[in-house]
Amino acid sequence: MEIRNLPDLCHDHLRRAGAIYRSDDSEDVKKTTLKALLLKTETCKRCQRLRHGETEPKIMNRRIVPSWNGTNLVETPPSDLEFFSSRQRRVEEFMSKGLFPLPTLPEPLMSKLFELSPPVLNARPGATRLEDSFVLPRVIFIDEEYILKWFTSFPGHFVRGDKVKEIFESPFRMPTAICDQLAAVGETSMSSLEFWIILRNGERVPCWYGGYNPFIELSRQNRPNDIVDVEIGRRSVVGEEAVLAEPDFVWCVYK
Ligand SMILES: [Zn+2]
Repeated sequence: MEIRNLPDLCHDHLRRAGAIYRSDDSEDVKKTTLKALLLKTETCKRCQRLRHGETEPKIMNRRIVPSWNGTNLVETPPSDLEFFSSRQRRVEEFMSKGLFPLPTLPEPLMSKLFELSPPVLNARPGATRLEDSFVLPRVIFIDEEYILKWFTSFPGHFVRGDKVKEIFESPFRMPTAICDQLAAVGETSMSSLEFWIILRNGERVPCWYGGYNPFIELSRQNRPNDIVDVEIGRRSVVGEEAVLAEPDFVWCVYK
């Protein structure tokens, strides 16, 4: 039985074709079963979408209003910020554009931050209430060292550490064991991280992120703590009709 040269198949049909291929049935039975399966794919919306060249699945959680809409304390770096590969020149550029020195996170908040979930490369996810009482549900706290080490420029949407009044666990953060597995892989291809999360009720949710991100925006009654497992793989969720994208978040910069 020839499994190559099949038409484009959605993940579900690809999996079934694979099962037929690997089965102990005779060649004739395999061929007949595969033929029947291929006939069914003619009316499968996902298979058809792929065959029409629409390789981008729908985004389940498309966002129109950013999560920081409503506060003036979230900033974007100045547009004339120049890039320097030298660490020293970058520090000078950040200084001259008013981004450095970073404010210190006051001690009670610092302790609270370090009590939260463990960091990935010293980036700590959480949520905050700002000094104007606005709540940012998804924040990644990073210090000066992190910025200089991992950023070629300055983080996109950011809030300064001295604008933070309260720090707490983000209701959008995935369990640590899941975060660890995703962070270890980082990307399944260039600027892309494809995975499924498996929920306690057995439901599998396809996710397509631009890279590692500790947050997830599940629908309806599900909470991140209902995630019991994760399966990570390149080209794994592309055949899905709709996927979850990473939710937006704000960087909090502190010293
Ligand atoms: Zn299909």
